[in-house]
Amino acid sequence: MAVSTPVVTTGRSDGLSRRDFIRLSGGTGAALGTLSALGANLAPSIAHARSLRIKDAKAVPTICPYCAVGCGMIAHSVGGQIVNIEGNPDSPVSEGNLCPKGAASYQLAVNPLRWTTVKYRAAGSDRWEDKPLDWAMDEIAKRVKKTRDETFQEKTQDGKALMSTLGIFSLGGATIDNEWNYTHSKLMRSLGIVRIENQARI
Ligand code: SF4
Repeated sequence: MAVSTPVVTTGRSDGLSRRDFIRLSGGTGAALGTLSALGANLAPSIAHARSLRIKDAKAVPTICPYCAVGCGMIAHSVGGQIVNIEGNPDSPVSEGNLCPKGAASYQLAVNPLRWTTVKYRAAGSDRWEDKPLDWAMDEIAKRVKKTRDETFQEKTQDGKALMSTLGIFSLGGATIDNEWNYTHSKLMRSLGIVRIENQARI
């Protein structure tokens, strides 16, 4: 017996609204519950539907990019296009489980509504502008150099070596992995930046 699943779309597209989805999901759940109560074993059908979705797909183990828990995932792709992401049961961290945010990470790769340009708001401005990534990188480099040049202290007031700046603060993010953190920390310290923090230190 085939079990159809409603397609979830965001409120900004023309598809099913969140409210419709919840209502239909409730109806589907009730129907499935009734069939189960009548003795129908739906597990093989559901497992079959799942296996069709990833049939012939290439499976690659990966890590959730969102937070420092680092839950294990399996990404399935067909012809270079991701078709599914789910929890990896072999992960000692999460044993196949994902929180709602991690479970929705498929959207991170494929959602056409994702922003793909840098949003920039100039100092004193009341509006955001779209900027290319290269422009943003150059701008960051320019501002880091300018701020460092203006605030770098070679010595303390009593003549001891200091070689640092308090004019720049570095705040890391949860999706930064160990290797990136190591390299980032080296870069910051080589610039004399001593205020380094990461919201993911749990
Ligand atoms: S965001 Fe959720 S799924 Fe991703 S690593 Fe954190 S807890 Fe795990």
